Amino acid sequence: MNKRYPLTIKPYFIIGRYIATPVLIVLVVFFSTLTGYAEASKKSPNRIKNITYTHTVKNEEITILLEKEISYQACFLDHNPKQKLPYRLYLDLHDTTLDTKVNKADIPSSSAIKRIRIAQKNNTTTRVVLDIKNKIFREDYKIIQSKNQKAIIIEIENKKAKQNDKARLVKELVLSEKHPQKILGGTSDLCTVVIDPGHGGKDPGATGYQKTREKDVCLSLGLKLQEHINSKKGYKAILTRNSDIFLSLDERGIIANKNNADIFISLHANSHENTKITGIETYYLSFASDEEARKVAARENFTTTSKISDLEMIFFDLLQNNKINQSSILAGYVHNAMVNKISDKYHEKIRNLGIKHAPMRVLINTEMPCILIETAFISNPKEAKKLKSLAFQNTLSASIFNGIENFKSARETAFNKTAP
Ligand SMILES: [Zn+2]
Repeated sequence: MNKRYPLTIKPYFIIGRYIATPVLIVLVVFFSTLTGYAEASKKSPNRIKNITYTHTVKNEEITILLEKEISYQACFLDHNPKQKLPYRLYLDLHDTTLDTKVNKADIPSSSAIKRIRIAQKNNTTTRVVLDIKNKIFREDYKIIQSKNQKAIIIEIENKKAKQNDKARLVKELVLSEKHPQKILGGTSDLCTVVIDPGHGGKDPGATGYQKTREKDVCLSLGLKLQEHINSKKGYKAILTRNSDIFLSLDERGIIANKNNADIFISLHANSHENTKITGIETYYLSFASDEEARKVAARENFTTTSKISDLEMIFFDLLQNNKINQSSILAGYVHNAMVNKISDKYHEKIRNLGIKHAPMRVLINTEMPCILIETAFISNPKEAKKLKSLAFQNTLSASIFNGIENFKSARETAFNKTAP
């Protein structure tokens, strides 16, 4: 825009220019200083005002209140037994410095949270860590930011309350006799054990010292274990295979389910490129998350997850949890019996590799407590020889059966105690 002014006004403009310019400079300096202050105050670090704890029947809540708006990053960490670190949920609060005087909430002993820790991670980040007593899944907690962005609320679901809800719903379902009570820890007079000798047929499994094949030692072991189990009144053992045939992993579980088994045991031999490695380990099934269990439910009973009603979902969820809990207990009894008996018999300390959990496919379809035993290392000359010897097979099967008996009697005691 180019507007021409009449001549008469021009002098005022000239004078105005001489006065206005310094004023303008002053103003610019003044405002830029103000903005500078604003910038500086924006950059001064945020601080935690306090951390509070509240709880309701369904939830526990940790609120982190800050002086200013906050941006943060949250992360969940698995437990680390070696370093004695529990499950952890942590928040990195950006542009925040640690105030040592921050008021930290007292956590009651009944809480799912063990304690709260605060540390200065680096110059600009403060980390707030919640040590969690037991594993929680992603859907068990929520992190919400307040509207004014100055508070972060961590909401942890009370699992006990949720469990009670589930237990009530399951009880109703069981009473409708839609599902067998056996899975929930009931007992029957006859205990059926399905033994699954790993691999077979076109799948030899691992090949070890002097070409010892895993499928062969698993079959011999399985046959021996069947003998032990069948010799005792009140027990019946069924093999998924009693010859050198191939079975898919799913078929093995199906055999156990069809036979209404109480216990499923898959027998394997371990292998390692380092032939010096020896030892025994027992696995039970565990999912990485509840989401996984949902997918299994969909595959097992229904065509799509969307067709699964909430109630059936809850029921299956609990069955899975119960199966996993029972399987971990079974793993404990069998594993300890094996380690003790073999150490006694061979007068040497067997390398105890412990009880582990993994998403073992062969254990997914079974509806009863199930474990997978890596009996010894076929790749180690000494253990390969042992695996082939009748004496060792005998001791090992006897100890596995011992563990089964201990598990059964413990379960009966527990069931009788809790039965109405
Ligand atoms: Zn195997």
